[in-house]
Amino acid sequence: MATVLGAGISGLSAAYYLLQRFGYPATIFEASNRIGGWIRTERHKDKGFMFEVGPRTIRPKGIPGANTLKLIEDLQLPVDPVKSWQPAAKNRMIYAKGQLCMLPNSLGGIFKTLPPFSTSLLNQIRKDLSAGPKKLKFADESIYDFVERRFGTELATYAISPLICGICAGDAKEISVRFLMNDLFEKEQRWGGIIKGIIYDKIFGKKEKTPVEGIFAEAMPRLYEKAREEKWSMYRVPDGLETLPRTLGNYLREKEVDIQLTAECREIIFTRDGAKMNVKGRVINPKHIISSIPTHKLASCVKNQHPSLAALLMSIPYVDVAVVNLQYSTEDLLKFNAFGFLVPPIERLPILGVIFDSCCFDMEGNTVLTVMMGGRWFEENFGKEPTPKKLLDTALEHLDLVMGIKDEPAFSRVHVLKKCIPQYTVGHKQRVADIRRYIKQYDLPLTLCGAAYDGVGINDVILSARMQVQTLQALDD
Ligand SMILES: Cc1cc2nc3c(=O)[nH]c(=O)nc-3n(C[C@H](O)[C@H](O)[C@H](O)COP(=O)(O)OP(=O)(O)OC[C@H]3O[C@@H](n4cnc5c(N)ncnc54)[C@H](O)[C@@H]3O)c2cc1C
Repeated sequence: MATVLGAGISGLSAAYYLLQRFGYPATIFEASNRIGGWIRTERHKDKGFMFEVGPRTIRPKGIPGANTLKLIEDLQLPVDPVKSWQPAAKNRMIYAKGQLCMLPNSLGGIFKTLPPFSTSLLNQIRKDLSAGPKKLKFADESIYDFVERRFGTELATYAISPLICGICAGDAKEISVRFLMNDLFEKEQRWGGIIKGIIYDKIFGKKEKTPVEGIFAEAMPRLYEKAREEKWSMYRVPDGLETLPRTLGNYLREKEVDIQLTAECREIIFTRDGAKMNVKGRVINPKHIISSIPTHKLASCVKNQHPSLAALLMSIPYVDVAVVNLQYSTEDLLKFNAFGFLVPPIERLPILGVIFDSCCFDMEGNTVLTVMMGGRWFEENFGKEPTPKKLLDTALEHLDLVMGIKDEPAFSRVHVLKKCIPQYTVGHKQRVADIRRYIKQYDLPLTLCGAAYDGVGINDVILSARMQVQTLQALDD
């Protein structure tokens, strides 16, 4: 029988898809005393607001978005959408050259020269036509280099770099182009330009369905169709995102899935007919292991028997993020109705960005903001172990600098999320292929899912769990 490591959203999803595919309840071993992993909501119902410590919204787009909506539909969870015409979806800003700049959010906007850019977005995109082809030897480069090569330095510095800070708290000069622009990069490499590639690919490109595209070959989920019709840009779960793993956990328990908390896996020894796992001193003998735990944790479990696999797993770096949640008891604190703003690394500020939570969702008369700090630059800005006070002071100082907010928050929380986001640096795709090749070569009864391999967002990890379970053969007891 397969065993799942980790009760974050990917481990829970893996157990859900195991149940769907093979009809048997797996056991999940979770190191901490709660389920959900990085998904964590702090509710303050008496005051009408909540803090999201980790993720807060999910995007409904594409197959990964549809897959999550199908899960949500199956669990009968209500959702709270933000429609694409609402300010929280349309208005996204960056802080650059001493001011907050609204990014173009309409067709008209791409013809205008808006700060901090020195020319219109259209002119920047047009540069691709004259940039000329460049075949890359290693089939990868940083997303910054790619965008700079095709569209120029401004777009790489003020559009892509802050976007990468927002998605993975990373440095666009290190993150692989394949992380976000795999398809555009492939087209560019094949046809010698992005715009050319998009057009030529439409005319000459063969369109074979990938296994992922095949999962909704018959019909898209009903909730996905609704999201498309109503033009959802993103959504949350009304009682906080943690309701998603909790509901999934309850569903699994009802189906007799055994979710063991405070059950950290410390060592795995693969045997001829499965594995021997040390779970807090107890020995467990699963036939197969699905690991959704971070790669550095899995590395320490397998290092005695498979040091080379451990080394490959350790080659995926992670960053720490400080999350400062703030609540003000007034409604009209913000001058802008927007999703929030991001800070390009070139500004050298110690904050990655600020999310205006109360612009996205109703917080009953409160202003709620989340300041994200650190990431790739955590140690550089804060040292190894900053105090919560230092982090809170930095957050408040920069809210004043960027938005002129001088008020003291009525309530605040500071969390340092250690090694919370894996970094898909240049060569990541190859690293993941090497890890999976090693597992195949040694015929290890081990399957990998979770944020380190096939995408860092919630949609990605749920889909990754589904696709990995699909690769499994039936496992006898
Ligand atoms: C600050 C932040 C903001 C984010 N915002 C968004 C967002 O808005 N939208 C979005 O889509 N995504 C967002 N993400 C990404 C999203 O949170 C992750 O993709 C997702 O939560 C990863 O889930 P997971 O199950 O793969 O990993 P995890 O949540 O890390 O779960 C792994 C679990 O394994 C357990 N574990 C570890 N070691 C062991 C062991 N040895 N034995 C047993 N159990 C173990 C851990 O305790 C944990 O519960 C954000 C992430 C962060 C950190």
